[in-house]
Amino acid sequence: MTSPAPAIQTLTAISSHPLRLIQALEDALIFRRARSMSLCADCAETPGGRCDDHACDLELITGYQQDLNELHHAVTSHITPPAPGHS
Ligand SMILES: [Zn+2]
Repeated sequence: MTSPAPAIQTLTAISSHPLRLIQALEDALIFRRARSMSLCADCAETPGGRCDDHACDLELITGYQQDLNELHHAVTSHITPPAPGHS
């Protein structure tokens, strides 16, 4: 005799603390954008103009911004406007 499979509850960072995650991503973007604008001596010697660390900053900025956009969409899509007639 087998018992039914337990319900799988998925707890994600989005469902537990969405506003905290949004704030963390915004802070990370501020940090990475500032860092990406102060290039180092290695950047000057690199043909592409950015050393590995500073090239990584640009990739992280792109990823963080995409995550932030998706998170904003996920959070705002769960907000329903009040029904007409309610104040
Ligand atoms: Zn650099």
